[in-house]
Amino acid sequence: MKDNFEIGIIGGGPAGSTAAAYLASYGFDVCLFEKKSFPREMLCGEFLSIEVIYFLKQLDLFEEFISLQPNKVRSFRLFNNSGKNIYSKFNFEAYGLSRSSFDNLLLCNAKRKGVSVFQPAEAIKIIHNVKSYQLIIKNNEKKESNITVKYLIAAYGKQSPLDNHLKRNFIKERSKLNAVKFHINRNDLKEFAEDEIQIYTADNIYCGVNAVDKNKVTFCFLEDRNKEQPPPRMQLIELQKQNKAFKKLFNGNDENLFDNLPVYGTGNIYFGKRNIVEDGIFFIGDAAGVIAPLSGDGIGIAMESGKLIADLFQKKRKENLSKEELESLFIKKWNKLFSNRMKTAKTIQWFILKKFSRNTGFLLVHSFTSLLQYLIKTTRNTFEKGMSNVKSE
Ligand SMILES: Cc1cc2nc3c(=O)[nH]c(=O)nc-3n(C[C@H](O)[C@H](O)[C@H](O)COP(=O)(O)OP(=O)(O)OC[C@H]3O[C@@H](n4cnc5c(N)ncnc54)[C@H](O)[C@@H]3O)c2cc1C
Repeated sequence: MKDNFEIGIIGGGPAGSTAAAYLASYGFDVCLFEKKSFPREMLCGEFLSIEVIYFLKQLDLFEEFISLQPNKVRSFRLFNNSGKNIYSKFNFEAYGLSRSSFDNLLLCNAKRKGVSVFQPAEAIKIIHNVKSYQLIIKNNEKKESNITVKYLIAAYGKQSPLDNHLKRNFIKERSKLNAVKFHINRNDLKEFAEDEIQIYTADNIYCGVNAVDKNKVTFCFLEDRNKEQPPPRMQLIELQKQNKAFKKLFNGNDENLFDNLPVYGTGNIYFGKRNIVEDGIFFIGDAAGVIAPLSGDGIGIAMESGKLIADLFQKKRKENLSKEELESLFIKKWNKLFSNRMKTAKTIQWFILKKFSRNTGFLLVHSFTSLLQYLIKTTRNTFEKGMSNVKSE
């Protein structure tokens, strides 16, 4: 097996797979390490926005994506626990699909483009030599191997022991924001609009509900554990008590419904600023910065940042740029594309989690519906931003 590559990528999620596919199609010698065997589940609301669809089309994957039978999402509805809701139709194409299928689609595409994919292969150590990086990789039999790459891209998601190993700038930060995903069988739900992404809010929690195929509905919530909160399965019951519209989704006799559901969760998610180049390593996707999930835009940003770094490597080669020039160009472009979107989404999330600001904000948006359109636009990029027919009920 080859053990020397020009570019190495750690992580085979949307960011890593997109970067890898573009880099390979530009003719770079690329390898990618993914610690899990695919298909695998992943914490996520599993809503795929217009930006994702744009990249699927650019990568010539849209037809294959449609063959996976994603659920088409046509509108958005936000419920306050007071019983009020705000509704808007999308002016753009959006879908729901489980991450196990979606991520597999992207990684298979990267392989077809010629990327050498090591899987399951966890990068456990990075040694920075003068002109290269030596990676220590562990497979699922705990056998270690060494791979050398000239350039390194980190696309390993929002949290990894590698953050500590690399002594990244935010490792001491604590957020107490936890997130959890469940898949619930469609037949176990009563009232549910299949073509709508819905967000249910209550104190210190919001929960996205989104059908991902004919049988499966994703429930994904983010909670602030600064206040005492019940364990994840109980939280679904607690939210029914707090939000009547949420309760209406269920049949009523579902005390045991959640008992055996697999839980996909992560604690202490840090939404603050991270360095996007450290020790000469380029960070993309969530590893570079996590956007608040209610914007439904994380996968789009992951793919866009993957394309960005690939385009810049191509520019470096064409214009003979130095590595330092590539680094500063990447930082500049990344900030221009994503910084404000992330800050806005984080502020909206903060408002939604707190009772007083949520109720006041809800009243405002309920009365001035164009405010919702404006807020959503500011968390998205420029491909197509529209929401239409915003109504409050
Ligand atoms: C609660 C919640 C709900 C969300 N809902 C949505 C949504 O509905 N729509 C949306 O667009 N976005 C959503 N997001 C955001 C979205 O999930 C992320 O932005 C997206 O997954 C980022 O992709 P990524 O490739 O950067 O990282 P990831 O998807 O996390 O992929 C990282 C990959 O790296 C691998 N890896 C990690 N460490 C190593 C290692 N050391 N060696 C090798 N491999 C490694 C992991 O196994 C994983 O496959 C949500 C986020 C949260 C927290």
